[in-house]
Amino acid sequence: MVDQALGHTIGKRPGGSVAPNMADYDQARARFSWAAAREELAGLPGGGVNIAHEAVDRHLGGPLAGTPALRLLGKRGDVRELTYAQLGQETDRFANVLRVLGVRRGERVFVLAGRIPELYVAALGTLKHGSVFSPLFSAFGPEPIEQRLRLGDARVLVTTPALYSRKVAQLRDRLPELAHVLLVGDEQEIAGIPGVEDFRGLMRSVDDSCEIAATAAEDVALLHFTSGTTGMPKGAVHVHEAAVAHRATGRIVLDLHERDVFWCTADPGWVTGTSYGIIAPLTLGVTSIVDEAEFDADRWYRILQDERVTVWYTAPTALRMLMRIGAEVAREYDLSALRFIASVGEPLNPEVVEWGREAFGMPVHDNWWQTETGGIMIANYRSMDVRPGSMGRPLPGIEAAVARRDANGRAVLRGDGSLELVESPEEQGELVLRPGWPSMFRGYLGEQARYQRCFAGGWYLTGDLVRRDADGYFWFVGRGDDVIKSAGHLIGPFEVESALLAHPAVAEAGVIGKPDPVAGEVVKAFVALKPGHEPDEELRRELLGFARQRLGAAVAPREIEIVSSVPRNRSGKIMRRLLKARELGLPEGDISTLEGGS
Ligand code: AMP
Repeated sequence: MVDQALGHTIGKRPGGSVAPNMADYDQARARFSWAAAREELAGLPGGGVNIAHEAVDRHLGGPLAGTPALRLLGKRGDVRELTYAQLGQETDRFANVLRVLGVRRGERVFVLAGRIPELYVAALGTLKHGSVFSPLFSAFGPEPIEQRLRLGDARVLVTTPALYSRKVAQLRDRLPELAHVLLVGDEQEIAGIPGVEDFRGLMRSVDDSCEIAATAAEDVALLHFTSGTTGMPKGAVHVHEAAVAHRATGRIVLDLHERDVFWCTADPGWVTGTSYGIIAPLTLGVTSIVDEAEFDADRWYRILQDERVTVWYTAPTALRMLMRIGAEVAREYDLSALRFIASVGEPLNPEVVEWGREAFGMPVHDNWWQTETGGIMIANYRSMDVRPGSMGRPLPGIEAAVARRDANGRAVLRGDGSLELVESPEEQGELVLRPGWPSMFRGYLGEQARYQRCFAGGWYLTGDLVRRDADGYFWFVGRGDDVIKSAGHLIGPFEVESALLAHPAVAEAGVIGKPDPVAGEVVKAFVALKPGHEPDEELRRELLGFARQRLGAAVAPREIEIVSSVPRNRSGKIMRRLLKARELGLPEGDISTLEGGS
């Protein structure tokens, strides 16, 4: 079969190696069109687009029906496999459960769970029903959970008895819109919990076939929360047409081929866990490995070996943890099936790219995207030389540029309303993308003005600082705001500060990301106390525990330092940059706006 758009013959090379889906970047870029990529979707039989149809049902009449869609490795060594046909039935069942419960199209179904089979069934079943799927990190504490359920007007929540009892039960009174909580777990235990329903019992009570909702390409499908510097988390809204980009990037960037064994290690609470942990591989007829357990070097190598993983999509923090124990360990395993390694979510150090060559015989391919873009935008491709430390080049179909910023960090507009772009290589500025790709977010839920502020002069402003070299490779410089990236998780300092301020001893709080060799950054909080409180070790520990209890391990500060005051500018804004400069022993920069300063 010849793929016109990507310019080469698809298939296996003699000797068993698989030719890359995209043989030549420049050629593919010249030929690519989103219109042609749209044609790759099956589309609903009666017209329209539904992500779950592209991921599951489109395969059911053909030879892939009996192929494993998901191989779910349980924490305790149990393995559950769902073929495409079985996934079709299970997701139909869940769509029927939602119908029986009276959930309507467009209403939000949240899942708060680790990587359990029901998460995948609920996600795709929700889409089949025409409702909106929204995942939550299972490591969130009650506070971030409540905020997101409230902002998203959650109608249904799927979770487990343990997570429910620890984190959600206490919130129920404050969430009157949350009509149904479905628990996955032991029937007896669930029967003893008031106000909840048994997920599995409901699944058994309905049919395993349903009529998929006739969703249109622009109907809302997914809601992903992300953090900003100020205010509440933002709910990025994505539509069914996003599947066009998931499928295209799965092919072009991750080089997925039918029947590949693909392992995406992302947490399901994060956008990667949906776009590439669920949708992209399934649209391409791939077998996805899902590991319920947390990171463990030996377990991970064993999975790569025993499952014969061909394509692996992971994160810099995990790779740095593996690197720490040495390349020799990797070489003890038979990783001969592995063809391609990609990484996302945080800067990937050049040493890790090189270490990949040593440990796996291939470099790690960094790529860049964010919740708002819904899919990969900039990447190192299998058929292109990797420049260690670079995020790579824009996806065919994506126009990326570097915008000049003024002293306040705002993109500079020319008199005619166009953006002032940085033309010279090496000069840094804000990464901007020309809007119009299918997985682009369609809004922040209920926050039109915040959404509008993301655009200027016909470009989408990503908020990231980059530079572009003479050959068009992009290099990450840093975030343009104060948002923290810890082990790949985006954390809004405001959320953490607000939680600390709820403690009776805390007068002020300022939160920064402190560089960390493994996690990239860890959350560090500076707090000033109210009069009458002693700045001792006991209180410091109490504050750490307090924050962890409210925010959960994914968000809570790792370090707290008690200070006499938190620096603010004259308008009262916390000067996090100054806190960071002091922490790192760097020049303090312009502090003329410091409150009490000159
Ligand atoms: P999220 O929306 O949680 O996926 O986080 C997106 C942010 O993560 C981006 O705006 C970047 O700041 C950061 N990020 C993602 N991928 C990369 C990468 N390859 N290199 C550096 N930073 C990245």
